[in-house]
Amino acid sequence: MTTNQYDVVIVGGGPGGLSAALALGRARRRVLLCDAGPRRNAAATHMHNFLTRDGTPPAEVRRIGREQLATYPTVTVRDACVDSIGGTAGAFDLVVAGEPVTAKRILLATGMIDERLPIPGFNELWGTSIFQCPYCHGWEIADTKWGILALPQSVGHIVPFALQALCWTRDLTVYTNGTVVIPDEAGLRLAAAGIRIETTPIAGLAARDGALASIELITGTHVACDALFTHPPQRHVDLVRNLGVELDEIGYVKVDPMSRETSIKGIYASGDLSTRMQAAILAAASGMQTAAMVNVDLAMS
Ligand SMILES: Cc1cc2nc3c(=O)[nH]c(=O)nc-3n(C[C@H](O)[C@H](O)[C@H](O)COP(=O)(O)OP(=O)(O)OC[C@H]3O[C@@H](n4cnc5c(N)ncnc54)[C@H](O)[C@@H]3O)c2cc1C
Repeated sequence: MTTNQYDVVIVGGGPGGLSAALALGRARRRVLLCDAGPRRNAAATHMHNFLTRDGTPPAEVRRIGREQLATYPTVTVRDACVDSIGGTAGAFDLVVAGEPVTAKRILLATGMIDERLPIPGFNELWGTSIFQCPYCHGWEIADTKWGILALPQSVGHIVPFALQALCWTRDLTVYTNGTVVIPDEAGLRLAAAGIRIETTPIAGLAARDGALASIELITGTHVACDALFTHPPQRHVDLVRNLGVELDEIGYVKVDPMSRETSIKGIYASGDLSTRMQAAILAAASGMQTAAMVNVDLAMS
């Protein structure tokens, strides 16, 4: 076997890919894990809600993951981009940082890319004062002033999202940015729970000492706000888009629920790219499940 032939190439070195590499390496499969960065939670200073790693910086979690993988000679980790994937199950041809590599199976763990909204200040505050997940960040900012920015694709979930946020703060405002229409019934439920609705368009986000301080409306009014929750659209990395794997109705890679194989035989997926239910520990769990299924597939072939 030459050096560039592997049983499995894992694309992506976040929690999903690292966990899959650990399971496959321990099963004595020859594994190449490629990670190109940047990671999805690059802007976040600490990762929460991951048992034994609560409050650990994301980069430290990856460092520990790689350190543990280094004890398995079956696993090679490269900081390299997988440029393309061709071929078929049993004989995939990849280009990794310009070099040819072959693999019997592929595991995609490339995560998702969060789009930045075209609101002045949004990009700078993403991940530090603008969040998607209260389970990840709510505890640290409990009892402060929260905004929830409704977007067309998330307005259907605005009531459950806002009501659950009351666990962390009673000071809640839903912003429609002058474009999203909150259905009457939803508006009544929010009002009954004491949640304000601000329909004036947003001019920008004002920061103080690097943290969100207020939301500036186009009227010039500043509404004090410490944290903003929203769910911007997400997209796949080019590699996944170009592969042509089938997507589900909301745009995530469709996988068989048990085997986690995609619509392309021999190509598997785990982590954020296959679900809207996104968290590091969930990505790690699906990486382990996928690895076991890939291993069984290889054993059966
Ligand atoms: C701001 C923010 C804060 C968060 N905080 C938390 C938290 O506190 N707790 C929590 O549980 N979750 C948190 N999350 C969610 C968590 O980060 C994700 O659920 C988790 O990282 C998903 O893991 P993954 O392995 O699927 O993908 P990722 O962690 O996104 O890793 C995918 C990797 O694949 C690489 N990649 C992509 N394409 C290629 C290619 N062609 N070749 C090689 N490599 C490639 C990327 O560079 C990336 O490193 C947060 C998310 C965000 C955006």
